[in-house]
Amino acid sequence: MEHTQKITCPSCRQAEIIYDTYALLQGVKFACPKCNAQIGLAQESIHQVQTTMSKFDQLKSGAKR
Ligand SMILES: [Zn+2]
Repeated sequence: MEHTQKITCPSCRQAEIIYDTYALLQGVKFACPKCNAQIGLAQESIHQVQTTMSKFDQLKSGAKR
């Protein structure tokens, strides 16, 4: 499964930061190749996203039946 996504660098807006959703959830930070700005999740956001993701998984498995 591919979880890689891209986001335009919020700092320089001239490059795209490629990040892995799951690695991001583990607290890994990703750096802009141009200006070296780092993106990452705050600890409390990680918890929020994980909660949302598990709810989403429940929805998906519920839809499958
Ligand atoms: Zn940048």
